[in-house]
Amino acid sequence: MARYRDAKCRLCRREGQKLFLKGARCFTDKCAIERRNYPPGQHGLNRGKLTAFGVQLREKQKAKRIYGVLESQFRKYFQWAEAERGVTGENLLRLLELRLDNVVHRLGFAASRREGRQMVAHGHFQVSGRKVSIPSFLVKVGDTVQLRPTSKLQPRIDDNLNAGRGQVPQWLELEPNEKKGVVRSLPLRDDIQIPVAEQLIVELYSK
Ligand code: SF4
Repeated sequence: MARYRDAKCRLCRREGQKLFLKGARCFTDKCAIERRNYPPGQHGLNRGKLTAFGVQLREKQKAKRIYGVLESQFRKYFQWAEAERGVTGENLLRLLELRLDNVVHRLGFAASRREGRQMVAHGHFQVSGRKVSIPSFLVKVGDTVQLRPTSKLQPRIDDNLNAGRGQVPQWLELEPNEKKGVVRSLPLRDDIQIPVAEQLIVELYSK
């Protein structure tokens, strides 16, 4: 299970906006975007204007970074999205949104997708009664995502739920006392509030 292990704040600085990769810290003035909102590296301040290709590339990189997905896996999502009926860009975002680590985060159990990924990988969740430790597992309509009874994460999840940083989207339903969420429907584009122009990603991969 390959993943990006370098500094997360560099990724936000490269994209010039908050991608909320670190949970609580992202809401404080310690956030690197608050302090140094320019691209990292020696030539960070001297980067020229982006070409049309550069703009498309940045959108793709942003989506990958928000969901913590590397290139080869992202391409697979794109191929699946292309093969599905409907608008490819929206299909792509829907697939990313249905990842179990994202669902754990969107339900408010984890402060960030990265934390959600760790919780899932460490085996703290079950989907429809079965333990799942694969962060890229795609949930389906009707699935329940619940903290396993033996998990020692109860206090941490309570803290995250009480912090209440994000609203639970309409396609999910949260039962906080049972530490359980239900997938009510597939997410629509309006439910996926990430700052990505998915059409540019489609254009990039369609060249
Ligand atoms: Fe991005 Fe969060 Fe780091 Fe700010 S603190 S730069 S939002 S990862």
